[in-house]
Amino acid sequence: MTPTSKVHEYEFTVVENEPAAEGLYRMVFSAPVLAAAIRPGQFMNFLVPGAKQILRVPLSFAHADAEAGTIEIIYALVGEATRALSRMAAGEKSSVLGPSGNGWSVREGQGRSIVIGGGVGAPPVVAAARLLADNGVAFDGILGAQAAEKLWGAEALSELGAGQALVTTDDGTAGIKGFTTDALAELLAGGIYDTVYTCGPQVMMRGIAKMCADAGVSCQVSMERMMSCTFGACNTCNVSMADGTYKSCCMDGPVFDAKEVAW
Ligand SMILES: Cc1cc2nc3c(=O)[nH]c(=O)nc-3n(C[C@H](O)[C@H](O)[C@H](O)COP(=O)(O)OP(=O)(O)OC[C@H]3O[C@@H](n4cnc5c(N)ncnc54)[C@H](O)[C@@H]3O)c2cc1C
Repeated sequence: MTPTSKVHEYEFTVVENEPAAEGLYRMVFSAPVLAAAIRPGQFMNFLVPGAKQILRVPLSFAHADAEAGTIEIIYALVGEATRALSRMAAGEKSSVLGPSGNGWSVREGQGRSIVIGGGVGAPPVVAAARLLADNGVAFDGILGAQAAEKLWGAEALSELGAGQALVTTDDGTAGIKGFTTDALAELLAGGIYDTVYTCGPQVMMRGIAKMCADAGVSCQVSMERMMSCTFGACNTCNVSMADGTYKSCCMDGPVFDAKEVAW
């Protein structure tokens, strides 16, 4: 996966912060040095004003605009810190640590690829789509959510040039009724794909990893773990590897080759 760059603490200023879908917020913030340094698939750790907890909140990003000096994040309202984050107004400032971890990678001459996001796994997958577009790699996209009102990212995938931007919902209120793996089975049946990039619930990524292994398609997964220190010291975010060892999600990940992970 792409090499780790040095983590620093930066001040960030909120530019926009608004609902993006049911239970999801979209924030654009200004942090020019970080926006130029961070790579698709890496993440940041946010200090949230007004949240009592001492731990920072790890979040991926959908788009870092080096020219504008801004970063776009999409986050679910989960507990106290993410709810407090949603109350930050334009102009408010706080601190963010990053760029953290290792992001997505693209090979020279890579063939047609697929990006797959499930739920709040969509933001780093949109960042992967941009990486592919920037490297001239053709791709298709699949985004899954429980229901239409919880979906985010399909428009972004189309704008980035996805050949197909498929949507699946568990209840059939948008796109195909079913799971992302149902849509993936159809795409893989064509036998034309080189690499799959995915982020979402562990059970979804496990299914995708197996389908890719069976189809001989390489697969990168962005793993999510509870994180405490975020610099590899506390072992909170360990990921079990297929060879019996452990790797830290915060330093070695969050992006791993799916073949390396013990599912
Ligand atoms: C590498 C990485 C990238 C992520 N990217 C995104 C993203 O782009 N969008 C998004 O909506 N969510 C993302 N998450 C999940 C997000 O970090 C949690 O939803 C968030 O920490 C919940 O905090 P809270 O205080 O609102 O909730 P609470 O449940 O009250 O959390 C309390 C504390 O527990 C820890 N924690 C809780 N849930 C998680 C979790 N799932 N992962 C890691 N730590 C957790 C945090 O340290 C948090 O401060 C990501 C997680 C990781 C590890």
